Amino acid sequence: MFDFHTHSIFRDGVEITHVPTEKMWKMITKVKDLGAELVVVHGETLVEPVESGTNKAALNNPQVDILAHPGLISAEEAELAKENGVYLEISARHGHYLSNGHVARISRKAGAKLLLNSDLHAPGDFLTEEFAHSILAGAGLDHEEVKRIR
Ligand SMILES: [Zn+2]
Repeated sequence: MFDFHTHSIFRDGVEITHVPTEKMWKMITKVKDLGAELVVVHGETLVEPVESGTNKAALNNPQVDILAHPGLISAEEAELAKENGVYLEISARHGHYLSNGHVARISRKAGAKLLLNSDLHAPGDFLTEEFAHSILAGAGLDHEEVKRIR
């Protein structure tokens, strides 16, 4: 019914994807109970019809670690990310990366944490040092501003 895929090769994690906002809290509690160490929520990317309010629902939950590809995240949401210590993702994935510049700018303003993620779906998606640098430079960031994971 719901689509989970792992987002990290280093820890057991889930990406909660296209879960209705009113069921988000319950789902997050469930995956934590099942042992998920890392909880990622599939944010309001520009390239998929993610339910409006998903970013906010994720950022309001203290068990969420990462809001992936948050699209045109608002300043208020970036403040929530800072308050709750949620990382906002700079994505290397085709399509999701369209709003990286916006995410970088608004996160810097709010002081929210950023991370770079490959959103790995196939072996060819592993980030090289060079491509990682290009993605960050394209978003107007440098390596020091971003915690880098795959
Ligand atoms: Zn995603």
